[in-house]
Amino acid sequence: MAVPQNRVTRSKRNMRRAHDALVAGNPSECPSCGELKRPHHVCGACGHYADREVVAQANDVDLDDEDAA
Ligand SMILES: [Zn+2]
Repeated sequence: MAVPQNRVTRSKRNMRRAHDALVAGNPSECPSCGELKRPHHVCGACGHYADREVVAQANDVDLDDEDAA
């Protein structure tokens, strides 16, 4: 098994981790419902993308439809 030859100093370790910080996302407002959403993604709240509904919401689907066999 490969083993590190030398101990990494606190300084070198921290220099490596200097670029590991998480960056905040860039949320944009959904034009349909106003909820914050990821850019270029379907809105998770209303299922719209670019002013049209692409994902039906669960509360909009009639599960108790009597006509269904
Ligand atoms: Zn929305």
